[in-house]
Amino acid sequence: MTRKEFVQLCGILGVGLPVQATFGSCSKEEPILRTSDKVIIIGAGAAGLSAAYLLNQRGVDVQILEAASHYGGRMIRTTDFADFPIPLGAEWLHVESGVFDEIVNDSSIQVNVNTIPYNPNVDYGLFEGMQVSIADIGFTIDQKFINATWFDFFEQYVTPSVKNKVSYNQVVSSIDYSGDQVFVKTADAEYSANRVIVTVPVKILQNGTINFIPELPADKQNAIKNVTVWDGCKAFIEFSEKFYPTFIGFDITPETNGQKLYYDAAYGQNTDQNILGLFAVGTGTLPYVNLSDGELIDYMLNELDVLFEGQASTSYVKHIFQNWNDAPFANGAYVVDHENWRRVRTLGESVGNKLFFAGDAYTTGEDWSSVHTAARSAKRVVNALLG
Ligand SMILES: Cc1cc2nc3c(=O)[nH]c(=O)nc-3n(C[C@H](O)[C@H](O)[C@H](O)COP(=O)(O)OP(=O)(O)OC[C@H]3O[C@@H](n4cnc5c(N)ncnc54)[C@H](O)[C@@H]3O)c2cc1C
Repeated sequence: MTRKEFVQLCGILGVGLPVQATFGSCSKEEPILRTSDKVIIIGAGAAGLSAAYLLNQRGVDVQILEAASHYGGRMIRTTDFADFPIPLGAEWLHVESGVFDEIVNDSSIQVNVNTIPYNPNVDYGLFEGMQVSIADIGFTIDQKFINATWFDFFEQYVTPSVKNKVSYNQVVSSIDYSGDQVFVKTADAEYSANRVIVTVPVKILQNGTINFIPELPADKQNAIKNVTVWDGCKAFIEFSEKFYPTFIGFDITPETNGQKLYYDAAYGQNTDQNILGLFAVGTGTLPYVNLSDGELIDYMLNELDVLFEGQASTSYVKHIFQNWNDAPFANGAYVVDHENWRRVRTLGESVGNKLFFAGDAYTTGEDWSSVHTAARSAKRVVNALLG
């Protein structure tokens, strides 16, 4: 059963969703944290930044330890490739735009984010060479940011109050939560706090990069070990002519093994540039991730030439490629769409009221693997900490 089917079934049967499944609901439990306590957050992606932002809003002292030399995690974007920002990771808004207000969590702030949905009367896709609707491609509620990205939303509304709390190039290697204080080690420093929120991608935990003292409970270890994380890559190609429709889908068999899609990356942007994106996860990445840069562009142009009578090669201008498998602090894309919700829920559970987990893989098991779920999980943790 997919998570969407599960949610629908809960509705039909009148069964409650997993604990705290509703975003923004406040826990009725006693606070675990006093506002004089300190919290260390590991990772400055959507979840870590959101957690820091919400704790800071409530007057709690936070420090973010980030392995990379920048914040953003899997939301990073480049402004060098086109005259609009190119999202190298998270691109679409997968839920209603009210989620922006939920993340900002401050009714005194006017949140203005321009997004654009697809138009089923105009937009269409090609799937294995046949014309199909955008619903067939799977894009119904998804929206593109206009001349912005998820990263830019965070840049405007979330990071200003917390970016001075981030310590960069701090690759956390151990977390000792055996005593009253939690001790966190990196290569050159040791930090302590009353509580720690771990937001690193679950693949990082699978790889054993972080040593937990004591070991994590068995059910948590099993969930970490057994959850499936898809490989992932994206490419962007500029063309002098726009010869392609909004989407170009490909069959991945079985479909639970991955996805692969070319799409109009300039859709809805104020630009004259023609930029085609490639999004590939799971086995969809296999043709691309082991090629040299020259082989890669030849491969992509060739598969487009076959569909568009050679127009890709003749109008090619330039390209960029982002291989998330090689990204040192991600090592992959995200937990697969159809993962077991109980396993995801176990990933999201806290340990001993000292160690908390937030991020796209550490949710309530209702939804996962997106920026909005990462931000929602941060809110769930902050509510659990502060009551
Ligand atoms: C190709 C691709 C396409 C996507 N498309 C979309 C989309 O269209 N829409 C959408 O909503 N989502 C999308 N996502 C998913 C989205 O990017 C993630 O769900 C979200 O950004 C995860 O945020 P996070 O904070 O949980 O994790 P991350 O953003 O990964 O943040 C974790 C942070 O922890 C840091 N870290 C790692 N190891 C350590 C360590 N040992 N010590 C200290 N710090 C460490 C990392 O550097 C990183 O900054 C996509 C992802 C990929 C890869």
